[in-house]
Amino acid sequence: MITRYREYLKFLDNKLTKMFEAQKPFIKCQKGCAYCCKEGEYPVSELEYINMMFYYNELEDSIKDKINENISTLLKKHREKLYECPFLINNQCSIYPARAIICRTFGLISYDDKDKKRIPFCVNLDLNYANVYDKNLKQIVTEVFEGHEPLAYNIGRKFLRGPKIEKEFDIFFGEDKPLVEWLAEEDFGNI
Ligand code: SF4
Repeated sequence: MITRYREYLKFLDNKLTKMFEAQKPFIKCQKGCAYCCKEGEYPVSELEYINMMFYYNELEDSIKDKINENISTLLKKHREKLYECPFLINNQCSIYPARAIICRTFGLISYDDKDKKRIPFCVNLDLNYANVYDKNLKQIVTEVFEGHEPLAYNIGRKFLRGPKIEKEFDIFFGEDKPLVEWLAEEDFGNI
């Protein structure tokens, strides 16, 4: 199943690369910018979590030690709702190839099945889409597009981890919960 899930990730990354490319005039994502990993819930399905931990297990001990320290600190904080991801080390993702789906989609505008649009929160940090966003109106302003249109994509969790994808790729995502809750079920709390 992990192999098939990794095939799906390849397919998804390919699509997302094209979306980020199409939205280039509005995107400020760059190596070392890790705002999206510093304060979140990181909802992760069982399949995603297993893949993340497979990758973690292959890391060299010195990196694992740092992650373990981060996890231990996080778990001692009584599982805060919003927290820094423990896989973030020196502002870089230590499990990048195995990061969760939500990590891959962050930065683009998404819409869900009720057509509700979500603009990435980093717009308020003068980052993605800030050049076409009115902070007072809290919306994208059409007058300043200059030829490029900011688009919203169907990249919500419900779709990308939904039954249609499961059927197409013959995978099963399983239970969905915040990363901290998955980690709390391991032995990390006793490190
Ligand atoms: S898994 Fe990696 S990309 Fe995702 S929130 Fe954690 S550090 Fe960031």
